Amino acid sequence: MQGFYSRMMHMNATGNLCYIDAHLHLQDEKLRPRLGSVLERAKEAHVAAMLCNGTDPADWPFVVDLANRNSAILPFAGLHPWRIETAAENWASELEKTLQTNVCGVGEIGLDFAKAIDKPMQRDALAAQLELAVRFGRPASIHCVKAWGELVESLKQAGPLPAGFMVHAFNGSVEVGRRLIAMGGYVSFNALSLTDNRRAKTKQLLMSLPPERILFETESPFGLNEMVTYVPRKPQTPNEPANLPMIVAEAACLIGRDANTFAVNIYENASRFIEPLRKAKT
Ligand SMILES: [Zn+2]
Repeated sequence: MQGFYSRMMHMNATGNLCYIDAHLHLQDEKLRPRLGSVLERAKEAHVAAMLCNGTDPADWPFVVDLANRNSAILPFAGLHPWRIETAAENWASELEKTLQTNVCGVGEIGLDFAKAIDKPMQRDALAAQLELAVRFGRPASIHCVKAWGELVESLKQAGPLPAGFMVHAFNGSVEVGRRLIAMGGYVSFNALSLTDNRRAKTKQLLMSLPPERILFETESPFGLNEMVTYVPRKPQTPNEPANLPMIVAEAACLIGRDANTFAVNIYENASRFIEPLRKAKT
């Protein structure tokens, strides 16, 4: 029982606010060589959990192994739409095996119609992976660019996902956000959601969508550029999970909410989202 309650707490033993990074890629080669210090700084920043998304069969074993060695890391395995044309042909059976033998979510999966990647292939890969998320009762982590209608359609076809889903780096309309949330989804924002060119839209989304379905992520090592002025960093340094508290505080400021209360709400949302994975692990 103690484990259950400590998981649900939004503060650690020393009374600090905790955070959950809802989407990132610790396996990326930009982070791998410095992973020890990245994870150390994440711990110091009270990032209590990180949802690490594989993108290709080639990186799933590393993600799973990383999660086995660090309880703060929750693994997701999925074929990213950008990798669909180059992935090993047996990726679907490999994914099924990975889900059978490990407690991991399904991600990163999705649709990206801004890229010149075969659309029917993208739709088929998404449908196959949503089917696995349904069958194994695992949460899904979804990428979507310029394919909102198609995504809603794919989710409808897949039927309700028993462990829910999140759409990372959400940049759809309020209406799409509401539809995704009505289907059991969460929407997640990162540092780029708060840059000058996107602040007004993100503010509207954060103020219009149900607050209990909002998540935040760093999307490390991505999700940062020179327009993000509120995250101090050295040039050429990749994004990392320790930056999450600054992103959450910036978002609270944008919508005029108390930073601590907002951080607690976001933590509770992410705790709820990962609960099916935590349950499956015990
Ligand atoms: Zn990603």
